[in-house]
Amino acid sequence: MPSYLFHSQGLGSFAPYLTPETLFAFDLDGTLAPIVENHASAKVPKKIAHALRRLMGLAKVAVITGRSRRDAISILGFEPQVLIGNHGAESPFSDNSRNWEFVQTCLKWRERLHDALFYEAGLEIEFKGESISIHYRKSADPEQALALIHRVVEGLEPRPKLIGGKYVVNLLPQQAFGKGSALESVMERMGAKNAVYFGDDETDEDVFRLERDGILGIHVGRDESTAAAFYLNQQSEMLELLESMIAILERRFEEEAGCEAALS
Ligand SMILES: [Mg+2]
Repeated sequence: MPSYLFHSQGLGSFAPYLTPETLFAFDLDGTLAPIVENHASAKVPKKIAHALRRLMGLAKVAVITGRSRRDAISILGFEPQVLIGNHGAESPFSDNSRNWEFVQTCLKWRERLHDALFYEAGLEIEFKGESISIHYRKSADPEQALALIHRVVEGLEPRPKLIGGKYVVNLLPQQAFGKGSALESVMERMGAKNAVYFGDDETDEDVFRLERDGILGIHVGRDESTAAAFYLNQQSEMLELLESMIAILERRFEEEAGCEAALS
């Protein structure tokens, strides 16, 4: 069962991670940007965006989101050091910025989904390149909508990998990276031995379930079933946490600069 991060046990476990060598990785929706009724109007609040940019000057920062990279940049208002899109399937590290094989598969699925679901009220098919999200937040009967989505998805060829979420079903090619493998690849690229990952949804459990020392998972929102070690009560606590992290990292920088000045 996860513990609340702002308790002494949580802060005690978190403190050793507050170094410039740590990779701080964040999910986007529900973690950095509050969840909104219309997913197209999500926005990272200005104060959080400002804090993230400051954090980028002090440590390694990555955003790993289910959105496409392009969409994520517009929601963030800036491009972070590393931005992985489509739940891990769209990486800036691959030879081509887009994985065309995955895009082709998703185009094929989109056609089939459009035929089957286009006229269903409250359902929205979002094509994101390397993955597809079917949103049903606006459906009058979400349970029925979810059952219908599953029925249609079962008939797709090739069979997609499914990741659930808050009123959304995400479809990815079977070979696509999940967020866990994506985080590990970012750690390797950036030479980070340790990482802290913040996320709020089922797709983030892929990171929380990684059995690897040096990765600390923080679930945004209380959820007894998460594999993350710690949680925040709500998304609005992110800003306070980011600001405390920045203050501690800045102090470390100042202390180190002071030591160097004393030695020279
Ligand atoms: Mg999320």
